[in-house]
Amino acid sequence: MFTLARDRVPENPVTRFAPSVTGWLHLGHVAHAAFVWGIARACGARVVLRLDDHDRGRFRPEYETSILDDLEWLKLEPDDRYGSRYRQGEYGDRYAAELTRLSSCYRTYACECTRAMIGESSPQTGSVGAYSGRCRDRGLARAPGRGVRVVVEPGVEKFTDVLLGELHQDAAGGGDPLLVDRAGNWTYHLSVVADDLHEGVNLVIRGEDLLHATGRQIRLARMLGRTSPPVFLHHQLIQDDPGNKLSKRDGALGVRELRAQGITPEELLGLAVHRVGLTAAPKPLAADELAGLFGPTE
Ligand SMILES: [Zn+2]
Repeated sequence: MFTLARDRVPENPVTRFAPSVTGWLHLGHVAHAAFVWGIARACGARVVLRLDDHDRGRFRPEYETSILDDLEWLKLEPDDRYGSRYRQGEYGDRYAAELTRLSSCYRTYACECTRAMIGESSPQTGSVGAYSGRCRDRGLARAPGRGVRVVVEPGVEKFTDVLLGELHQDAAGGGDPLLVDRAGNWTYHLSVVADDLHEGVNLVIRGEDLLHATGRQIRLARMLGRTSPPVFLHHQLIQDDPGNKLSKRDGALGVRELRAQGITPEELLGLAVHRVGLTAAPKPLAADELAGLFGPTE
């Protein structure tokens, strides 16, 4: 059983479900969605559906169609105050304006390093590494094939995690964040921070694989003008083997494959919440029963 620390949840909570439109949904996404909608319904939060399609090289329209269809099938519906959904790909002007703002108040610079060169963390895989600042003082011109970073000074950022309590991280621990990648895409860090700010998201529910990025994202938000950080809730992940995060390549646990085999929405939700440790057995569960998993909310 999971008891939500209601006193850590912000007033008028707004959260979001932001799947990456670079693949099909799998069981891990369903478990995450169960946390988002279950907690939102348990504490009266609104859910924004944000399609994370800033990576134009890996985006495919059929992924978007499939993700929306899977969510509808699961009866996981966003709240209509924000429209049924929005796509990051339509908000390039927002990110461009934020980059201009950052560049006028802070030091931004071109970076030609590849991810392989620097072993930098990937928000999507959870691997943790730090950018060394190699290009900070090289004076490279902005050009195709080069990304853009912003200088982040060392310093602790404090935040509340609904499950973990009061935490702090060095904002510069991951190095200067990349804002535009070498292919010219807005990055995850910039788009997620800008969108959370503009959409009034004050409760970020996400997997614990992103915990390491929280301090730098809070700093980036502060640099964009956010006065108080969102409250976070980092939840456990489904694991295939002990210690291994479930892979998107694990097709056996893809929602498409499971649906083709005849699983019902209730069976799939029941399986996902069981595999993430929320229930003792994989008992079928309807979407409107998810709130009950998160205990009395006082
Ligand atoms: Zn570099």
